[in-house]
Amino acid sequence: MGELRDFVAGMLERQGAVVEALEPDGLVVLAPEPVRQTMGWPELARLGFGGQQPEGTVRIGLEGDWLDRFGALLGGHGCWAERQLKLPGTAAAPGAFRYTALSDEKREGLIWLGFNLGTGAVVDEVLARLRPVLLQEADWQAPDPAVRLAGGPAWQAAALEARLRPLLDHRVRQELEPFLRAMRRRLERDRNRVHAYHDDLRGASLKRLAALAGAAGEKAEADRRRETLRVATIEREYHVKLDDLRHNYALRVTVEWVQTLELYVPVQRFDVLIRRRKGERLIRLDWHPLARLAEPPPCDWGPGLDRTRLVCDEKLHLTEPAGQAACTSCGRAWCRACHPGACPRCGQAVERDRPRISG
Ligand SMILES: [Zn+2]
Ligand SMILES: [Zn+2]
Repeated sequence: MGELRDFVAGMLERQGAVVEALEPDGLVVLAPEPVRQTMGWPELARLGFGGQQPEGTVRIGLEGDWLDRFGALLGGHGCWAERQLKLPGTAAAPGAFRYTALSDEKREGLIWLGFNLGTGAVVDEVLARLRPVLLQEADWQAPDPAVRLAGGPAWQAAALEARLRPLLDHRVRQELEPFLRAMRRRLERDRNRVHAYHDDLRGASLKRLAALAGAAGEKAEADRRRETLRVATIEREYHVKLDDLRHNYALRVTVEWVQTLELYVPVQRFDVLIRRRKGERLIRLDWHPLARLAEPPPCDWGPGLDRTRLVCDEKLHLTEPAGQAACTSCGRAWCRACHPGACPRCGQAVERDRPRISG
C-alpha cells in the first residue's frame, strides 16, 4: 500500500492539506473544507492503508468508492503533462484512452497510443521500451523552451484527430477481439436454444395438423383452426425472442480521452528524400537511442503499425500496401490517400479495408 499512501499524501498536499506520515502505514491529515467535503472526512483525519488499524482510523484502499472520490478531487487536473528527459530532443505524445464496450456484458480497458509529433510516426513500440527508462528517472523535468521549440509546432486539433482516429479504432478492435468472440459464442448458443424450443413446438403442431388432414366434421375443422392459430403464435413468439436477443447483445463501444503526456526525448533524426518521376518529398525518420529502436516510417493511409510503405506517384503519399491495392471492380490500382472514398476510374466505393474482427 506504500504507493497508494504516497499518491494520496502527494495529492492532498497539492489540495492544500497538511499531511504527516504515521508509521507504519498511516497518514494524519489536516484538510481544508473542500477536501473534507469531497472525501467526507473530519477536519483532522487519520487515514490507514494497511490491514490492522487502530480505532477511529479511516481505512483507504482500492476497494469501495475511494478511487472515485480521489478522481473527483483531481477533477480536470493531470490530463496533460510534459516532461523532458535530460538530453535535448523531440516530442512524442503518448495519450491514454479509456474504452467501454457494453452488450450483455461489460468490458473496460485503457489503451496507450504514442506517436512522434516531429515525424508523425506511430511509436507504440518505442514507448513500451521507454517506459522503464521513464520510471527510473525520478526527476520530473519540465522541457526547456529551446527544446520545446526544437520539438516543432503544436498540432492542430483536426490533424491530431485525423491521425489518432484510425489508430484508436484499430487498437480498440484488437483489444476487444476476445470479448467479441466470447459474446458471439453466447449469442449463438442462445439463438440455437430459442430456435430448438420453438422448432419443437411448431413441429408438434404441424404433425397434429397433418393427422387431421383427412378428417371431416365440425370438431376436426375446429381442431384444424386451433392448430393453425397455434403455429402462427409460435412463429410470432420466435421472432419476438430473436428481437430480444438482438437487443440484449447489441454492442456499444465508447472511447474517451483520459490523459496526454508530451515527452521530449533525444533522437537521431534522418532526412529521407523520396523521389518519383513527378516529384520528390522529404520525410523524417527518428532513431531512438534510449529505446535503441528506429520508428516505422510515417503513413498517410492506414494505421501504419508495420514498416512496409508504398508511395503513390501523384502526391507521393506513403501508405500501407493495401492503400495502393487494385480496385476490386475494375482492377486499377489507386491511392486511397489521394481518393479516400472511391475508385477514381469506376467509382466503386472503398471497401472497409480495416482489419475485420474475426468471430
Ligand atoms: Zn475501379
Ligand atoms: Zn496519393
